[in-house]
Amino acid sequence: MKNTLKYLIDLQEIDRQLFEIEEKKGSLPEQVEKLESQAAGIKTELEDIRSALEGNQKELLITNGNLMDATEKVKKYQDQLYLVTTNREYDALTNEIETVKLNMSVLEERQLVLETEIEQLEQTIATSEDQSSGFIEQLAANRDELKEKSDLTDANQKELEKERVELVKNVSQRFLRKYERILNARRRAVVAIERSACSGCHKQLSPQIIYEIQQMDKLIECENCGRILVFTPGDVE
Ligand SMILES: [Zn+2]
Repeated sequence: MKNTLKYLIDLQEIDRQLFEIEEKKGSLPEQVEKLESQAAGIKTELEDIRSALEGNQKELLITNGNLMDATEKVKKYQDQLYLVTTNREYDALTNEIETVKLNMSVLEERQLVLETEIEQLEQTIATSEDQSSGFIEQLAANRDELKEKSDLTDANQKELEKERVELVKNVSQRFLRKYERILNARRRAVVAIERSACSGCHKQLSPQIIYEIQQMDKLIECENCGRILVFTPGDVE
């Protein structure tokens, strides 16, 4: 019986590690996915800024062209002023010139706005390119690290499963079934004594039961939680 209990203690340690691995593995793919969507978000943001910049640059080109046309027009009208012979013609031309000039001042205002915006967008792009390349590098590094961890965890898990197969060969079917039934219900099937209590449910144990557990010559279950109670040398009585 002593040996069976020792095997069960070892089995519990393996199962504890396997539980831990399962928990860790569960969140890894999610973490990788989160990092990737963060990187994609940054890329999209940068693309939006670039297309805004492109739009402004196009509009500035058109505005500059319109301004040049207007300047030409004003010059042409001013030349014509020397050739007019009547006051009426003179007034009509000066009216035209005023209208074009008014239009030009609107265009010049827009030109200023566009130039300012372009400068700001270019600055934003320069800064975010700097930041995002650093961030994307960091994300890739994190992702690689997670992948490595996940591979290592897989290897660990395989090793533990192999050990488990070997270990359970030493335990009779009857005890193994009991162990696994408690394990499935309680997550921990084999527990030690802690301050004279079951460390699984903290129920106080009588000195008689503690004595029997220390003998390790029969399988004793906690009367409260049903876990198998064992004595390990480090236990505080
Ligand atoms: Zn208990």
